[in-house]
Amino acid sequence: MTFWKGDAIHPLDESQGHPGAIMVNIILIGAQGSGKGTQAERLAQNLGIHHVSSGDLFRKASEEGTELGRKARLYLDRGELVPDDLTVSMILHYIAESNYMRDGVLLDGFPRTIAQAQALDRGLLSADRHIDCAVYLNVPHEVLLSRLSGRYICRAAQHVYNRETNPPKVPGICDLDGSELYQRPDDQGSAVQKRLNIFFEETIRLLDYYQKQGKLVEVNGNQPIEQVQETLLEVIRHFMAERS
Ligand code: AMP
Repeated sequence: MTFWKGDAIHPLDESQGHPGAIMVNIILIGAQGSGKGTQAERLAQNLGIHHVSSGDLFRKASEEGTELGRKARLYLDRGELVPDDLTVSMILHYIAESNYMRDGVLLDGFPRTIAQAQALDRGLLSADRHIDCAVYLNVPHEVLLSRLSGRYICRAAQHVYNRETNPPKVPGICDLDGSELYQRPDDQGSAVQKRLNIFFEETIRLLDYYQKQGKLVEVNGNQPIEQVQETLLEVIRHFMAERS
C-alpha cells in the first residue's frame, strides 16, 4: 500500500521485510490521555513503519532492572521527565542499532523538550536522515484528565484500554494477548496532574519548533478512535503530497 509519492518517502524494497510500506519519519505529539499510544500503534501499522515509544522503552528497562531502568524509574513513578541526556542517548542508540530510520519510524513520546528535539535533529543529520512531519494530537485539558483516570494498560505489551471509551471485552484482561491489565502509578493521584503540567508547560513548545521548520500538522484527537486514525492518515497523506 503506497499512500503518496515524494522525495521524503519511498516504497520499501520488499527484501527489507515491509512489502509495500513507505518510508516516512514521523513524530506524534500528544498529552498523556490524548490517545497517542493507541493511535501511534495503529498508524505505524497502517503506514508500514516502526513504532518507537520512549515510555515503553523506559518501562521495559525498569522491569528488566537494567541500570538505565533503575535510574529512569525514579522519574517515571513521580510522573517527571527523565533527564534529557539519558533519554536522548537511549533513543538515538535504539533507533541506530535497530536501523529503524532506514525503514521509516514513528516516534511516540520523544522528543518532549526542545533540547531533545535539537539533539534528535543533530543525530539524524549525522546519519543523513530527517524528520518529515510532526503531528499534534489535540485534546482539551478536561477530557485528558477524565481519560487518564480510567486508563489501564496490559503487562505483556502495554496495549492501552480505557474504562469508559475503550474497555476490554473481559474486565481486567487484554483482548490481544490475555495478559493482566493494570493502572500505571503515574496515571494515579498527583502524578497525573504533574505530567499534564509538564506537557502544557514544556512539551507544547515543540509545536513552535516544528512549525518553524514547516513540519507541523494538527489533528483533533477528541473524536472516536477510528475517526482519529482516519484523520491522521488523511492529514499525513495530504501533508506529504504537498511537500513532494
Ligand atoms: P509515556 O508512556 O510516554 O507517558 O512516558 C512515561 C514516562 O516515561 C514519562 O512520564 C517520563 O517519566 C518518561 N519519558 C518518556 N518519554 C520521555 C522523554 N522523551 N523525555 C523524558 N522522559 C520521558
